[in-house]
Amino acid sequence: MDALERLQLILQTKTVSYAEREMIDFKEYEKFIELIKQHYPLLHEKAGVERIGGYSLLFVIKGKTDLKPIGWMGHYDVVPVNSEGWNHEPFGATIHEDYVYARGALDMKGHVVALLEAVESLLNEGKEFERDLYIMLGHNEETGSTMPDSGAKSIKELLISRGITFECVLDEGGAFIDGKKLGVNGTVALIGVAEKGYLDVEIMARREGGHASTPPERSALYEVTQAAGLMEAKKFKADFNPATRAMFEALVPAMDQPLKFLFKYKDIFKPILLNVMTKNPETAATVRTTAVMTMASGSKAPNVLAQDAKVNLNCRIVPGDSVDDVVSRIKNRIGKRFTVTPINGNNPTSVSSVENRSYKTIDRVIKEVYSNLKVVAPYLMIAATDSRIYHDQAEGVYRIQPFMSIKDDRPTIHADNERVAIASYYQGIQFFKTLMCELNGVQ
Ligand SMILES: [Zn+2]
Repeated sequence: MDALERLQLILQTKTVSYAEREMIDFKEYEKFIELIKQHYPLLHEKAGVERIGGYSLLFVIKGKTDLKPIGWMGHYDVVPVNSEGWNHEPFGATIHEDYVYARGALDMKGHVVALLEAVESLLNEGKEFERDLYIMLGHNEETGSTMPDSGAKSIKELLISRGITFECVLDEGGAFIDGKKLGVNGTVALIGVAEKGYLDVEIMARREGGHASTPPERSALYEVTQAAGLMEAKKFKADFNPATRAMFEALVPAMDQPLKFLFKYKDIFKPILLNVMTKNPETAATVRTTAVMTMASGSKAPNVLAQDAKVNLNCRIVPGDSVDDVVSRIKNRIGKRFTVTPINGNNPTSVSSVENRSYKTIDRVIKEVYSNLKVVAPYLMIAATDSRIYHDQAEGVYRIQPFMSIKDDRPTIHADNERVAIASYYQGIQFFKTLMCELNGVQ
């Protein structure tokens, strides 16, 4: 059996995550665990395997030195399928015109399989590592690391109790993109060095209720949406943060004029650049904390005035800003006539360094393996990954992408016809092998 057949077999397991845990078919998770046991025997022999939180997996290959270990993260759960739009069976792992089609091909069972292939292949070559090599596979990432039964969190807690800190932790979340939007003529590889924070804020107006046939001058629902609307009408201030700064510093040498000039002197041209960046929702999200109304509720009946009218503001917080600051800015903006309650929130992560050994190694190996790249740059991730929980337990946390075909196939993630190019898969294995040798050190 070859690496491609193993990928197909493993993609065929229906490891679908649901927030309603009773909907999960754990027999499929057992199947996944059994398959990797069968197909990666050297890994299991050298590392053993610990099951944590039920279905999350931890492998530790001891290194020859006391140097800090490297953590390789992944998750093997996938999001559910809306099968109507699929041209292939979503868990069939069908090969069609040089692609493998399956839920999880990109996010991120394909990535996990490439990682397992790489380590098994190195062990097969008799390689021994200098640094301990940790493989941490979560089983419920898709429903978030804030869930109380998060497998990633259970692994982290176990590692804390063992006193483990990492030189670096790696996870999903990097990207290959067309550089055009960034003024770069060619493909850009991005390494995620930070993630935005998350916050829901409930804004409530409590007013007198009554019959809708004799309404007051302003209803509670009107007032509360007006108040919350202030946060959309006048957005939070945009600015470069340490992650976007690091990105532009890396991109400038590869940029074409006139952007090259503008971004070289980005502090002088800041007003112009931010003005352009905030016009596009994607780039705007990288330079400001965002706040948007997502839910509203009034009374329970069409002819009854709302007594408690509520609006939810969903906020995503840039590095340098914080949950507390955002809450107090919202309170100041909308005034005392409303109750402002933060529902849940986590701060943005710290921004991992681009100057340390791990980042420089990742940067160098990416350039080496993907030779047709224009440039490699760090970036701020808008979405969340489980690796955010390791920022206080590692000198750096980096989100990387092994599959170059994601450049065109990104829209298939969490959507129909998710796929990975076969050539990209093999290149991804090679990437992980090289990176593992360089980061973990081989003897
Ligand atoms: Zn994922």
